[in-house]
Amino acid sequence: MRKQIVAGNWKMNNDLEASKSLVKKIVKGLKKEKLKNTRVIVAPTFVSLAKVANKAKGTKVEVAAQNMHFEKSGAFTGEVSAEMLKSVGVKIVILGHSERREYFGETDAMLAKKVDAALANNMEIIFCFGEVLEERKANKHFDVVESQIRNGLFHLEASAWDSIILAYEPVWAIGTGETASPEQAQEMHAFIRKIVADEFNDDIAENVSILYGGSVNPGNAKEIFSKEDVDGGLIGGAALNAENFITLAKSF
Ligand code: PEP
Repeated sequence: MRKQIVAGNWKMNNDLEASKSLVKKIVKGLKKEKLKNTRVIVAPTFVSLAKVANKAKGTKVEVAAQNMHFEKSGAFTGEVSAEMLKSVGVKIVILGHSERREYFGETDAMLAKKVDAALANNMEIIFCFGEVLEERKANKHFDVVESQIRNGLFHLEASAWDSIILAYEPVWAIGTGETASPEQAQEMHAFIRKIVADEFNDDIAENVSILYGGSVNPGNAKEIFSKEDVDGGLIGGAALNAENFITLAKSF
């Protein structure tokens, strides 16, 4: 049975003290909750990862990095490798976020290499993709999403899919306050599951969690998460507030 997941992408927010305080509140708030079949993940900045991972150890909260490089080590100023993430207890990484693609020039080819490096290190990947507004208006959103998934993930062996979480994030809905309607999310998620089934098999498609991301908040989460093919959310803004994030984790 596929898992429901709420993942908080803290982006470039929260210094070390604020990160420690936020994870502490989330851990405490979820301690007594019965989160049936639900995973809760937070992704702080690199500087806070080690401490947050330490605080989350043995709790219901898991910790992810927001990015990583595909090389092990070397002359790549400012970058962090999978090996380094693992050394601080982090076994999940977000790859392909639209902000990485747009502002830092991450291409499908780079992302395929990052995916391979993460898997070679037995890490789990939250793989993001989604169309921009012009593409949706031009009715190209299915093609765009398919090509991002195909180029980033379809070279994998079937067995690798145990370590993949998909995150559909229409770029026009990220940080804008505008969400895809539950029907638009469901339509895309069903499409994604179908292309995975066609390329691999029904079992993989049925078991992969597909998250929706784009202005999810405590007011709209229940309806979006109730859709058959929506297995949770990748959350930006609303993940920075412990109370909101805890509510989201309980929205299934
Ligand atoms: C995100 O950055 O992945 C995201 C979905 O942000 P927000 O929830 O703020 O739209």
